[in-house]
Amino acid sequence: MADDRFHVYDTTLRDGAQQEGLNLTVADKLAVARHLDGLGVGFIEGGWPGANPKDTEFFRRAQTELDLKHAQLAAFGATRRAGVKAADDPLVAALRESGAPVVTLVAKSHDRHVELALRTTLQENLAMIRDTVSHLRAEGQRVFLDAEHFFDGYKSNPAYALEVLRTAAEAGADVIALCDTNGGMLPDELAEIVQDAVRTSARVGIHCHDDTGCAVANTLAAVKAGATHVQGCANGYGERSGNANLFTVVANLQLKRGFDLVPQESLAEMTRIAHAITEVTNVTPNSHAPYVGTSAFAHKAGLHASAIKVDPNLYQHIDPAQVGNDMRMLVSDMAGRASVELKGRELGYELTPEHTRTLVERVKDLESRGFTFEAADASFELLLRDTVHGERRRHFEVESWRVIVERTKGGELVSEATVKLHAKGERIVATGEGNGPVNALDKAVRLALEKLYPELAKLELVDYKVRILEGTHGTDAITRVLITSSDETAEWATVGVAENIIDASWQALEQAVTYGLLRAGRDCG
Ligand SMILES: [Zn+2]
Repeated sequence: MADDRFHVYDTTLRDGAQQEGLNLTVADKLAVARHLDGLGVGFIEGGWPGANPKDTEFFRRAQTELDLKHAQLAAFGATRRAGVKAADDPLVAALRESGAPVVTLVAKSHDRHVELALRTTLQENLAMIRDTVSHLRAEGQRVFLDAEHFFDGYKSNPAYALEVLRTAAEAGADVIALCDTNGGMLPDELAEIVQDAVRTSARVGIHCHDDTGCAVANTLAAVKAGATHVQGCANGYGERSGNANLFTVVANLQLKRGFDLVPQESLAEMTRIAHAITEVTNVTPNSHAPYVGTSAFAHKAGLHASAIKVDPNLYQHIDPAQVGNDMRMLVSDMAGRASVELKGRELGYELTPEHTRTLVERVKDLESRGFTFEAADASFELLLRDTVHGERRRHFEVESWRVIVERTKGGELVSEATVKLHAKGERIVATGEGNGPVNALDKAVRLALEKLYPELAKLELVDYKVRILEGTHGTDAITRVLITSSDETAEWATVGVAENIIDASWQALEQAVTYGLLRAGRDCG
């Protein structure tokens, strides 16, 4: 179990799940919890049992299906209703019976919210906190308190907001997390209020939303001011602008402030874990995310490339390996010889000066025609291989392809593609049907090659992007297609450019399959 002196508390499954468009099944929640435990967080808030049937089921299944190594589960819920005993409140009973070792109670700390939303007196709100905390403690659970709207409440009535903290701490709450529920705070003012809260001698935590773009900065400022418990969500999920990104918070505290929060080897899994969670949530990963984004350590070389070659640390704030990320060089028309050489080395090729010169020429020529290798690493590697090996060596040769789009009587659009290929001395003709021309071509190619290359079954097209590029000097507009593919372990992107969108798609598709076969260790034969 993690050290109790400083808490890393995840609320992805409760607060993060409020994000627009995010919808987690119980199985999804269990999967996310396993990933978070793999990172080494101390607490995972699983949801609100009793108030939400899915969350009740999560806690029930967690008891048998989750084997947590680091984290403890926390059940979230409200203080008892006004005018009843905590022991008699069915929602408090659901928390008690959740099986979670920790209960996090949300309580009002803003006087106006007590009167307008809760419609009770300030005194009764304090009694609700006191009674619920001490009841759950007596029943054997550890209790944290989320002081909702704490900062706005402090500004409205500081004496009352602080009284809420004292009351909860005296009743036995271990931590009172100060919540910037509306997310409107800035670091300097927030830090002053946290300092004042710490003076009550209650143990203080911090829960920030990102409405000012300061959720992580606010969290760090609160820690500096004395908070010893940080809350946040995987990948910064959450409603509106999201919650504090727990990955950024952990990396900052551990790598910049010297906190020992998660094992080093788990921190080195953070990039993988951040992406694995996006697979579960089905939210497109933010490539610019600090530390874990695919662009977080990507350099558009140009001017800097030759210096990066000498000492990469001059151009990055940490060694990306510490968070399991990689430095990447982007090949662009801005780039000269140095970045092409560097990219070649990153891919494991020692290029001769002659190869480098040829490659730079080809990249410049292709980029002037609308190709982009920045976003299409795999296409660049294929180009590099062609340059090094001197000839086009491929796993298959294309004789022709054709696509028909048909609107049926029922109004349905069906695409049918036929490809004619040569591979391993055979001529293969295959036909595929799909909901669109590219989908039909993809199916036809797989059908044609699956007997010779069964590993193609693992290849998947995960993203397809089309961009129309303006024509210049009186030429027609052209279409650029980027296809992202994956197998079980990696993703790669390929690019095609043509006047015709299907032609551009075909180029990207053909390279995607070729690259997939190279990855699978297939020789060209
Ligand atoms: Zn919140």
